[in-house]
Amino acid sequence: MKCIKDYTLIKLEDYFSELGYEKFRARQLFYAIYLHRINDFSEDTTLPKELREHLRNFFAMDAISSVKTQMAADGTIKFLFSLVKGSAVESVFIPWDKGLKERRTLCVSSQVGCALDCSFCATGKLGLTRNLTVGEIVDQILWAEKITGERLTNVVFMGMGEPLQNFQNVVQSISILANTKINLFNRKNITVSTSGIVPKIYDLAKIEKPVKLAISLHSTLDGIRETIMPIAKKWKIKELRQAAIDYYRKTFLPITYEYILFDGLNDSELDARRLARFVRSVPSKVNIIPYHRIDFMPLNGISKELKPASSEKIFQFKQWLHSYGVKAFVRSSSGYEIDGACGQLAFSNRYSMEFL
Ligand code: SAH
Ligand code: SF4
Repeated sequence: MKCIKDYTLIKLEDYFSELGYEKFRARQLFYAIYLHRINDFSEDTTLPKELREHLRNFFAMDAISSVKTQMAADGTIKFLFSLVKGSAVESVFIPWDKGLKERRTLCVSSQVGCALDCSFCATGKLGLTRNLTVGEIVDQILWAEKITGERLTNVVFMGMGEPLQNFQNVVQSISILANTKINLFNRKNITVSTSGIVPKIYDLAKIEKPVKLAISLHSTLDGIRETIMPIAKKWKIKELRQAAIDYYRKTFLPITYEYILFDGLNDSELDARRLARFVRSVPSKVNIIPYHRIDFMPLNGISKELKPASSEKIFQFKQWLHSYGVKAFVRSSSGYEIDGACGQLAFSNRYSMEFL
């Protein structure tokens, strides 16, 4: 059975036209799902009865359901969702409260597992099971809001998977999330993070409602990137830089560079200087990410050798970047104790494994 949340508004309008209904019916259903949060088609009394019946017979309302939630002391919540079509994914809710500024972010998954096999990432160790559907992506947000009772302010595609390898579905889910009629999110509060799938960065710059782009850089040297990120063999740092420049020129949205700091690998002053030179080509900021160990997975090769830089080194690296005029922040390790921090999403307990 298809899920109704796989449909963007335009697709729903087309479908209703085929059925012989007027387009505004699609809008009514869209409002009912995303604004009124109906649980069943029968609750949408704005629609004619026979249309409600038809929808009940041919469409599922939900693409996922909640299996388990774990909360960390810092308020981070990790959700394990089972997918109606089989398998499971994790998403992470990260509250952030700095007085006047308040953010409630959901880190969503775009794939079950990931094919790219970065040596530092637990999701990569799982390999790829499949791409998520549009409904499975959008439903992570609706379910997180339902469970927490909170309205989210931001979405980051930094959960399981490489979003640009599930391009169509990610872009369609953005078209729902950033739809101004239902106003779930400002498009500038949606971030897609990529390990550097260069041609797709060019494509993402051209979508109807462009969103923020984060690039997982981790080094400005091809040699180092290639040892920790197999995808770097395909697209070189120069090409990545050109794609980032193009992205900024088309969207006017500053780029975020993600940089995991590994002890002795990419954490020298020279590395900071090279990074500063690299990121200066367009307005941007650097997020320094502490390396979260993934010892709960079987490791081999370089994965075994990677060590986190000390917190003193992280601070020092940030200061170096600041001294070169680069905006740099240290990403918090929200959810570390529940294996919900960056790169740790891999169904780290047996209970989750049963759903794979
Ligand atoms: N596939 C995308 C998005 C998911 S990964 C990407 O690679 O960008 C989200 C972020 O977590 C990326 O910046 C990634 O480099 C980072 N990450 C992966 N494993 C990590 C780990 N063990 N510790 C810290 N960050 C990690
Ligand atoms: Fe995939 Fe991103 Fe993990 Fe690399 S870091 S394996 S691209 S999810």
